[in-house]
Amino acid sequence: MTTNETLARNDVAYQFHSYTNAPRLREEGPCIMARGNGIHVYDTEGKEYIEGMSGLWSVAVGFSEPRLAEAARRQMECLPFYHTFSQKSNVPSIELAEKLIGLTGGRMAQAFFTNSGSEANDTIVKMVWYYNNALGRPAKKKIIARKRGYHGVTVASASLTGLEGNHRSFDLPLPQIRHARCPHWYREGLPGETETAFADRLAAELEALILEEGPDTVAAFIGEPVMGAGGVVVPPATYWPKMQAVCRKYDVLVIADEVITGFGRTGKMFASELYGIEPDFMTLSKQLTSSYLPLAAVLMNERVASVLARHSGELGTFGHGYTASGHPVAAAVALENIRVIEERGLVANAAAAGAVLQRRLRELADHPLVGEVRGVGLIAAVELVADKAARTPFDPLGKAGAQVVRRAQDNGLILRGIQDSLAFCPPLIITEPQVETLADRFAQSLEEAA
Ligand code: PLP
Repeated sequence: MTTNETLARNDVAYQFHSYTNAPRLREEGPCIMARGNGIHVYDTEGKEYIEGMSGLWSVAVGFSEPRLAEAARRQMECLPFYHTFSQKSNVPSIELAEKLIGLTGGRMAQAFFTNSGSEANDTIVKMVWYYNNALGRPAKKKIIARKRGYHGVTVASASLTGLEGNHRSFDLPLPQIRHARCPHWYREGLPGETETAFADRLAAELEALILEEGPDTVAAFIGEPVMGAGGVVVPPATYWPKMQAVCRKYDVLVIADEVITGFGRTGKMFASELYGIEPDFMTLSKQLTSSYLPLAAVLMNERVASVLARHSGELGTFGHGYTASGHPVAAAVALENIRVIEERGLVANAAAAGAVLQRRLRELADHPLVGEVRGVGLIAAVELVADKAARTPFDPLGKAGAQVVRRAQDNGLILRGIQDSLAFCPPLIITEPQVETLADRFAQSLEEAA
């Protein structure tokens, strides 16, 4: 048996995989990656792929950036671990918190660190509840999320997630969570409705939901500025300002989950800037360290931070925190990663290379299989349909998308099929000629699968 066959056999035998159909894995085996360089990854047989999804929407600076490895090594040799409990701290976590607050232009006031985006959103749910208890409003606890939104997989964050697969058979969502309509005009817009009218309708629906539940019971609204795992949904331009105005009217906190959109993905440092969102909480992860190490951050504004701080004094402590909150090695890698993003102008590159990606994908809009092409900056999706005029999805849903993903993988391009939407989210270092190659490989794969 070759080394590869042994690895594949052991993977199937000993590892329970995330988001995987276990019998299919047993039948077809895994694709095992051995190394990465720049925008490319290489499997154990040496085949090269363009990582069109940056791993999991996350490797901003590309694979195997030596500056991040060096930052980790330096911190490991100096102080490999220290925590942030009980008035202790460590230097990289302080520097990173200061840096993140600076990047928001001071709109946010403080950072709390976790290991994953799920834990960060879970933490925000607890902070929202703590906040309203501190203000003497124990009934104000419901959180409105959105259908097709993705916020993670812990009990609370999976409840926020608006995807059936994260609830079914897990006894979720929690009773405090509601889900509003997804802002996907192509799928949810009424015949003849403009994008602006669609956004107005969604804001009216949010207001109706808050009134139906009772404003005294609704604590927060959470959304990704651009939805990622739900199929890359770019909302109408007026959607966020309208939704935010409704939230403000009823004293409902606004949570911007920028786990995918943060650090340049849309051509701005944060997508909140793109849409005029002024969040009370922000969730950051993934491109924060380019996922070289697990790290996420909850940012909160002064209004929230001051209440949480006061209440911790009243209760004697803020009874929440992870062993690895503010892990110094992860924080040092995040700081170096942000320096690389800034020094190499990767936010501007996301805008420039992103324009090429958006143009090339839109050239496929007339293809008989293509229902919609959507995206902004270096995040995009192409949705396949069985009937273009009627926008009819394929039956079974996801089969056509899976075929294109397989063809693309054979052609050296890794994509993600979200039902029949093909998602694109390449590393922010991608050059314009590399975007052309990526688009050529996709167009060829689409033709082969058609
Ligand atoms: N929020 C968003 C917007 C995400 O895309 C993700 C992961 O894809 C999460 C939260 C959860 O992050 P993690 O997988 O690190 O728990």
